[in-house]
Amino acid sequence: MKRNLTFLIVLLAIGLFIFLGIALGRYSSRMMAAQIPEAACTLTMADIIQSAKGNVYEVDDPNYIEPASYNLVTYSVSEDEIINPVFDSIPSDLKDEQQDTALQKEAWQIFTTLIPSDDRQMVTQYMIFTDGSESTLAAVEQTEDDLTNWIVEVDLADLDNKDALFFTLIHEYAHLLTLNESQVSVDEEVFNDPYNIALLESKAAACPNYFDGSGCSLPNSYINTFHQRFWVDINDEWEKIDSLQYADDLSPYYDGLYNFYLNHQDQFVDDYSTTHPAEDIAESFAYFVFSPKPEENLIKDQKILFFYEYPELIELREQILNNICTSFPE
Ligand SMILES: [Zn+2]
Repeated sequence: MKRNLTFLIVLLAIGLFIFLGIALGRYSSRMMAAQIPEAACTLTMADIIQSAKGNVYEVDDPNYIEPASYNLVTYSVSEDEIINPVFDSIPSDLKDEQQDTALQKEAWQIFTTLIPSDDRQMVTQYMIFTDGSESTLAAVEQTEDDLTNWIVEVDLADLDNKDALFFTLIHEYAHLLTLNESQVSVDEEVFNDPYNIALLESKAAACPNYFDGSGCSLPNSYINTFHQRFWVDINDEWEKIDSLQYADDLSPYYDGLYNFYLNHQDQFVDDYSTTHPAEDIAESFAYFVFSPKPEENLIKDQKILFFYEYPELIELREQILNNICTSFPE
């Protein structure tokens, strides 16, 4: 009897050991899968974040004039491919860039490699522009004929700096993520008359959630939740500065934004984030993707931790990091 009991206990122990072993194995392989992107990618991530640092409101040259920007070619997007290029008329010195299909496709492939297909269904056009090197690297905007569709725009002159390109593409992607039709219902009247301040104010007053300047955000949208949590206290102060951008002389506006940043450095991941709440969430998202999970708890850390509240965004972050670090190792 005693021997039998011992036998049973040994059997149970072996069983438990095997079960625990399997469970632990599963757990640790899942942990490893989650840690692979960061572990393999730490250097790349740090470089990408570093590329985003810079004082955007400190203009060295007081006579600085924004360079002219030219649209070169617009493609339609079909699944992962770009088709049917439509060429713009441009100065003759830009013909080479306009005809450089290989480089244009390379930039598109970087975007499609970074962002999983299901997460970029709103992108229906891809446009190549240039304003020379630096200045604007990339942008997104709605198509004119359907405000639920979006155009991804890339400057062909800025493809050499891959780190800055990765950061900017993820920043731009964050706009698609936070402003698409499942998040904000774009107001057609405002879209067609964006400088009509009276119209904007009446639409904003009628919106029970955050009005982002183009439409009323939905109650559970990322941007509404983000705005309610992080912007309510500073919104009045910021709006006074924001209104200065309609003046002829823009230096009070830029100085105002920079001082606003200096006064609230604990709240913003960088100075560009103070431009607009939509820029703040986009910039914070790019930091969420490329930074390790914050260990401190300043408001700027909370803005990164905000995205960890959404399992779909944690998964998207892992996919983006995996895609970058396997397709573009240092
Ligand atoms: Zn932006």
